[in-house]
Amino acid sequence: MSSSITSAAAAADPASNAALSFSSLPLPPATLANLQQLGYTAMTPIQAASLPLALAGHDLIAQAKTGSGKTAAFALALLANLNPRRFAVQSLVLCPTRELAEQVTQEVRRLARAEDHIKVLTLVGGTTMRPQLASLEHGAHIVIGTPGRIMDHLERGSLDLSALNTLVLDEADRMLDMGFFDDIKTVIQQCPKERQTLLFSATYPEGIARISAAFMRAPKEIKLTEKH
Ligand code: ADP
Ligand code: MG
Repeated sequence: MSSSITSAAAAADPASNAALSFSSLPLPPATLANLQQLGYTAMTPIQAASLPLALAGHDLIAQAKTGSGKTAAFALALLANLNPRRFAVQSLVLCPTRELAEQVTQEVRRLARAEDHIKVLTLVGGTTMRPQLASLEHGAHIVIGTPGRIMDHLERGSLDLSALNTLVLDEADRMLDMGFFDDIKTVIQQCPKERQTLLFSATYPEGIARISAAFMRAPKEIKLTEKH
């Protein structure tokens, strides 16, 4: 069973600015300083609702509208799980399109700036395999890509997910609309069972309930209404 948290309960108390401060989270000082440099002075509502749960290790199903800051919500969580000294793929983010994967990569790189030498690799379709294979030989900490291309790499054996600790499904409803259900399932089946899974979606179609039931561990659900 998953527990559901409504926006009223989950959103930070508007009377208390402290509740919206990133410094209320268990984040390293370097990360907090980096957020300040980026101009992220306060958490957005989806960040305030999801980060305490994500940083505590829970699986999450989070619904919030576009532009609400979902990328930082999962990026800070996957970075918190990351061991920079272990040069292996520890996080995988699946996105519906090449453009979204590139945007997420940019944001993750900005947020990872506080950490030394975190390598983020984008693996999307519509580009030749060879440079991706070369990059994978050099290794990466974080992979961000589209389901079809990630599947290709898994089939070729060029992507090893055995050290993965965090899986993110970004814009899950769009990935399902695009027919990626089977690819997503196959990718998840190659991830270690012991991991944190974070799912972000604007809507909650039936396919998401199926993925969640099969592959998530007592996920906490966060749903922010339109006004957020
Ligand atoms: P979503 O994935 O929900 O559509 P994004 O993660 O792309 O939204 O974020 C939208 C924009 O808001 C980005 O430009 C991002 O850099 C910015 N942003 C995210 N979190 C914050 C914050 N706490 N303070 C200020 N800007 C933020
Ligand atoms: Mg997004």
